[in-house]
Formats: sequence, structure tokens, C-alpha cells
Amino acid sequence: MKTSVEILKKYFGYDNFREGQKNVIDTILSNNDTLGVMPTGAGKSICYQVPALMLDGVTLVISPLISLMKDQIESLVLAGIDAVYVHSGMTASEYKKTASQIAKNNCKIIYVAPERLDKESFINLFKQVDIDMVTIDEAHCVSQWGQDFRPSYLKIKDFIDCLPKRPIVSAFTATATSKVRDDIVSILELKNPYVCVTGFDRKNLFFEVRKPSDKIKELMKILSERRDQSGIIYCSTRKSVEEVCDFLIDYGYKATRYHAGLSDKERSVNQDDFSFDKKPVMVATNAFGMGIDKSNVNYVIHYNMPKNLESYYQEAGRAGRDGSTADCILLYGARDVQMNKFLIEKSHSENNELKWEQRDELIKKDLQLLKEMTFYASTTECLRGYILKYFGEQKDLFCGNCGNCNTTFEEVNISIDSQKIISCVYRINKLGWPYGKNMIADVLKGSNNEKIKNAKFDKLSTYGIMKDVPKRRIIDIIDYLCQDGFLELTDDKYPVVNLNDKSYEIIKGHESIIIKMPKHVEPEIKKDKSTKKTDASKSIPVSDRLFELLRQERRKLADEARVPAFIVFSDATLKDMCRKMPVSRDELLEVSGVGAQKLERYGDAFIEVISGFVKDKKQ
Ligand code: ADP
Ligand code: ZN
Repeated sequence: MKTSVEILKKYFGYDNFREGQKNVIDTILSNNDTLGVMPTGAGKSICYQVPALMLDGVTLVISPLISLMKDQIESLVLAGIDAVYVHSGMTASEYKKTASQIAKNNCKIIYVAPERLDKESFINLFKQVDIDMVTIDEAHCVSQWGQDFRPSYLKIKDFIDCLPKRPIVSAFTATATSKVRDDIVSILELKNPYVCVTGFDRKNLFFEVRKPSDKIKELMKILSERRDQSGIIYCSTRKSVEEVCDFLIDYGYKATRYHAGLSDKERSVNQDDFSFDKKPVMVATNAFGMGIDKSNVNYVIHYNMPKNLESYYQEAGRAGRDGSTADCILLYGARDVQMNKFLIEKSHSENNELKWEQRDELIKKDLQLLKEMTFYASTTECLRGYILKYFGEQKDLFCGNCGNCNTTFEEVNISIDSQKIISCVYRINKLGWPYGKNMIADVLKGSNNEKIKNAKFDKLSTYGIMKDVPKRRIIDIIDYLCQDGFLELTDDKYPVVNLNDKSYEIIKGHESIIIKMPKHVEPEIKKDKSTKKTDASKSIPVSDRLFELLRQERRKLADEARVPAFIVFSDATLKDMCRKMPVSRDELLEVSGVGAQKLERYGDAFIEVISGFVKDKKQ
């Protein structure tokens, strides 16, 4: 019998297991229940697909989304594995065909949607086959503490109970909180499970937060440096998805959109356009979520800040799944906080199943999570370190590969500026009622706008006393003062700034405040730095020309097979081909991601492209 590494190589074309994979597989093969907690992109599928190929019987994988199953099945079938899926969208004849295939014991891995599990016919079908393992993918859906609770996941345990023999149960999730983990173990009744939690660090991802005064301009700048790449832009509302997407299309980008306001059909067409790289840029709300299995996403930009760090890390984690370096950039604006507060309250108050106290409790919990997300957006610490700490990995880090580690901060004494700001708040509030940060900054800058004149703020002694300081910087200082409790920002829809006891300490000059702010660097130097950004795959030269030729070949083969391009080979595999330039089948097998079946099917086509390229170069 083949070993697990041999199976990995033969079917998936990889030489080594990643962190955690081997332990999980060994545990399953020794007949034990398992819970794998691994971040998105860590490679959870291999953890159950490899043992599934080694167990005598069948493995049933319960997975929440049809799109997710579809991609998985296509990949497995291309790798030469007998796999099928069963879901509620099938026609009667499709179901009949698949059921007979299953009954004849012709399938090794069966994917199924949880909604199916209590159907009599379905249960009877599965009583006929020998199920060795039931795997629950996205297992956090069983928990009300998870982000995507699905009542149908509660049926899983009863389904397992009615099988003639209790199978091995393995469950997988990317959600790390202990509440969710405990729920999975108890609700699914995992028996003495081995719990494997792998590091949450995604080393190939570069994290950055930008605070542009004009988000759309900043976005255009980011995209213009990534013209031929594929990426996702997340916005918080349908309206901004529409606006941003239209804007990009106007500027000649092949962009498409995804949000809950579109018809099922349009969503599915748009998702396919993105998966198949016909439109490599996707602008979406968080409805574009689970099931996005595209491996060559080079960047994820958040046009708006999400409501918590779990969502952020999960969405950002859709970049670089094939292990190539990728960028995760958050565009932060103070309005994002207001918008999120609004969305949090709206979502809970529209839920009629909740009692008032429950609603208040949930809102409070969400606002706390929002605060921690906001701290991420404003921290000067290493961003990766901040994320890992949040997910319970105690790490004080200087990763050298995030926006903050790569920015030079300077210590700035803001005591005098703070006094000016606080005096201004004091005078504005004395004239009537409090105002928001924007107005305060405008008064300090000495802006000429109508509102200021009407309110007679131009007569205040603090009017224009910071006219030489950029408005952005004034707002940054106000943000800092609010965060550290020297000013109070109300929780209203339009938050206003108030004074507190600590504010007076500053006016009296009793406090000296020194903070870290990004050092002003000349634009040329900045540009240099961004291109210097560490990029492991770029450190080994990859021929752009060959990569392009291989991509074209992949496109052709994918179109013929009617599957997304990355299912033929991932970008990481094509890049490895560029480095190794294999011109024989044996050499091609050395490339990461080339297994026996794909070698058989596509090997010669790629060898031909590479040989042609090598010959051309010699001439
Ligand atoms: P997850 O479900 O944890 O988000 P996937 O199972 O989709 O992640 O795997 C992410 C990517 O990593 C896929 O392209 C997969 O083929 C690749 N991968 C998984 N395991 C390995 C490995 N041992 N070596 C190289 N690549 C791997
Ligand atoms: Zn860092």
C-alpha cells in the first residue's frame, strides 16, 4: 500500500505536507476523530482527501456551498479521483444517475450539502455503501458563535447516528475562537478528538493599511500597479460595489460585481467570469464569501473596513491561496466606523427572533469586535503581529513584511497641537452644541466653508491656528486623542467630540504627549521601497514571457475542459515550471502541483510550450 506522501505526490503533485497536514492524516488513519483548525489557504482539503484515498470505504464530505463543491469535484476528477456531489440544485435525472453510481460503489469521495441529510431516500442510499469517514467542512457553521450559522448543520449528528457503522468523523474550520471550537466538538459529538490548530500566520501575505483622503484615487493607484493580476475588492454596501465597479469598467478594467441584490443567475455568471479569469477583478460585498476557491488571487483590497478582524482575515485570506506572494490592503476612513455601527445595529434590530436583551447583548459584543478592528486600522505595531495576537498566538513581532514594519515612524510631540485641538473643541461646544471631527479640523485649518461662517466659527480664537498642518494629520491627532481617552467620541450615527477630565489636564499642560506617526518620506523614495517589498517568488527570476505562454496554454486547455484555469494548474505551479523549465515528463513531475493524472493529461502540451521557448532562446 502507498504511503500518504506517495498519495500526495501521485494525485496532487506535491512533495511535502504542510504544517499540520501529516498529523491530521495520521490521526484519521488510526481511526480517530479529528478537528482541524487552520487558516484559509492552509490546505484543509488535503487533510481529508488524502486519507479518503487510503481508507477502504467511502468518505462523505459535508460542505455548505454548491460552488465550493463544484470546484472541489472538478479538481478531484481531473486528478483522477472518483468523486461526485449531491445537492438540492440537481435535476431528478442527475440525481438518479449519481445515486446509481454511488450505489454501485463507484465513488471514493462524495460531497453533499447538509440540507440533504434528513431526506429518507438519501439516508437509505447511504445505508447501502460502506462509509468509513464523514468530514464536515466549514464546521463553524454548526455554532451560533460562528460567522455563518446554518441550522441544517445541526442535522449532521443525527445522520451519523443512523448509519449502520459509526464512521470516523473529521471536522475542519478556519475560525479560531474557543467558543466555536467547543461547539463543534460537542454538537457534532466528536469522540475524544485530536484537535490540530496550526499557526494562523500566512507568510506569503503582505498586510497594509492606508488612510487615503480620496479612496477611489488610491484604489486606481493600487490597481494601476497590478494591471494583469487578479484580485478582489471588498466594499461594505451594494451601492459602493456598484459605484466602484462602474468606475473601474470606465477606466478599462475587466471588472465584475457580486452582491446580494443581484439575481442568482447574474451572481453565478459574474462569479464564473472571475473564476475563469475572463474578468480578473471582482468588486463585491462580503456576500462573496465561502466557496471562493480561486487560487491565483494576487490581492484583496478592502475599500471599506469590515466589522471585525475575523471577517477581515478570512476575506483577506482569499489572496495567495496557492502560496504565491499576495497583497492585502485595507483602505481606512473614519466613516467606516460609523457605517459599521449602523450596519451592526440594523442587522440585529431586523432580527425578530431575538429578545430585546439578546439584541443589546449581541450589539455590545459586535461593537467590541469593531473596536478591535479599528485598532488594527490605526496601530503602528507590526500588522501581522497584531492579527496573530488577536487570534491567540502571543507574538510581539517585527515581521518585516507588512505596511507598518516597512514604514519609518517618527516620534512626534503632539502636546501643543493637542492643546490647540482641545481648546477648539471647548470653544465650539461653548457656542452651542458639539460637532464631529471634520468640522473641528476645518475650523483649525481656517477653512472658508459656509457652515463655518453661518455658525460664526470663523470668529473663534482657534480659527485657523493650525492652517499649516495637513487636515489629514489634524484628524489623525484627534483620532489618537479619542483612542487614548483625552477626548470622547460619542457612539451616535454622526459621532461628535466632547471633552472629559483628561482633556483639561492637557490644556493645563500637565501632560506631554508623544506618539508615533508615519515619517514623511519623499515620493521617489517611497516608490523605491514599494518595489523592494520582499517577494519570495520574485527573488528567483521568473521569465514573464514563458509565464505568459504557459498561461495561454492553460487558458486553452481550461476552455476545452470547461473548467476554471486554476483547476488545470495553479499560478504557483506555472511559476515553478518557469523556474525549473522541464522538457521531459520526468522533469515535469518534479514541478510542485503536477501529479500523475495531470501529467498524463496535460504534460505533453506544457512540455511542448517550454521546449519551444528554450529553443527560441538558444537561437
Ligand atoms: P483551505 O481549504 O484550508 O482554505 P485549500 O485546501 O483550498 O485550503 O488549499 C489551498 C491551496 O494550497 C490549494 O491550491 C492546494 O492545492 C494547496 N496545497 C494544499 N496542500 C499543499 C501542500 N502540501 N503543498 C503544496 N500546496 C498545497
Ligand atoms: Zn510586520
